[in-house]
Amino acid sequence: MDLELQDRVIVITGGAKGIGAALSRGVCQENGIAVVVDRDKALGEKLVAELRGLKASCCFVQAELTTADACRQAIEETVREFGRLDALVNNAGVNDRIGLEDGSPSEYLASLERNLVHYYSMAHFALPHLKRSRGAVVNIASKTAVTGQGGTSGYASAKGAILALTREWAVELLPYGIRINAVVPAEVMTPLYEQWLSSFPEPQKKLKTILSKIPLGNRMTKPEEIAAAVLFLLSSQAAGHVTGQHLYVDGGYVHLDRALT
Ligand code: NAP
Repeated sequence: MDLELQDRVIVITGGAKGIGAALSRGVCQENGIAVVVDRDKALGEKLVAELRGLKASCCFVQAELTTADACRQAIEETVREFGRLDALVNNAGVNDRIGLEDGSPSEYLASLERNLVHYYSMAHFALPHLKRSRGAVVNIASKTAVTGQGGTSGYASAKGAILALTREWAVELLPYGIRINAVVPAEVMTPLYEQWLSSFPEPQKKLKTILSKIPLGNRMTKPEEIAAAVLFLLSSQAAGHVTGQHLYVDGGYVHLDRALT
């Protein structure tokens, strides 16, 4: 099926690495235009050079998204470069382990700046352009929103709010035909995940335990599998009547009875 994403301008926050990079590649494979927004200049520029080498249309916008100004500038730069904006994927985030016991109120607020506030700011500044294109937004959440993880109040509550905002924006933007959905990953091998895993005394042992609890195939979800779900949701051809949904792409991790697998 043709997803009809050709020439669609799609902004991907955290698009230089991990899930975001898989999505940037996926957008280009569908002949869309990937706007890679990330703070990692070296990797962002490397990815865009690789994609341009494959004749893809794309650009890199360096931004540290923890300020509203940076979010506004990223959207302005996109529209200056391509004249339009068809979709936003809010993906940048970091499991920064600001816990209830070890953290502090100011660290908690800073975690929300890293994981939640820029989702709102990006959508806010993108909205006038999305109204024109009758576009779509996909928010990347996390299983921690519904399962908890322990020791990560900022990240888990940001992800919970992202699920709530997905429903809230889906309702608010109905009159404009703008669809809003969320993808919820659980265990995906990315630089962020590797970093988290390496914080355990025996990372390989920890990984083995985690894999044994993933119902479908006892394996990690591939970044490309998350990207495929996002591309489906972005496509008004494939998902034109899908809005306000939380799509779990997690091998059954959250909802299946793991005691039976
Ligand atoms: P990743 O490997 O760390 O890639 C994320 C990219 O976003 C990195 O380049 C990162 O830069 C960048 N970034 C983060 N915060 C940013 C900011 N404030 N401004 C600009 N760039 C920023 O992460 P990932 O594993 O692909 O995760 C992507 C999304 O999926 C996140 O929202 C995460 O919560 C969610 N998720 C992932 C998993 C998983 O298993 N991997 C599970 C559930 C949910 P730095 O490298 O400098 O941080």
